[in-house]
Amino acid sequence: MAGYKYGEYLVQLNLSAYDTAHAPGSAAPRPGVYRCSACGDEIALAKGHALPSEHHHPHAPGQGTIVWKLLVSAHSKR
Ligand SMILES: [Zn+2]
Repeated sequence: MAGYKYGEYLVQLNLSAYDTAHAPGSAAPRPGVYRCSACGDEIALAKGHALPSEHHHPHAPGQGTIVWKLLVSAHSKR
């Protein structure tokens, strides 16, 4: 689970970008923290980087395939 200390630097946004499922190895549409919907593993990505491949972390039988969703997006001024 992602953590933070200072809540005044975060804002809740009701955007569909947080609901979109992304396949392993695909390009991350936004920089930020992504979460595997199946197991809760998290990864931080810079702008333009690809999401980890299907071999990034193992799943137990029955957990299903790796599906990444945006958890926290980073907003750059550039
Ligand atoms: Zn996973």
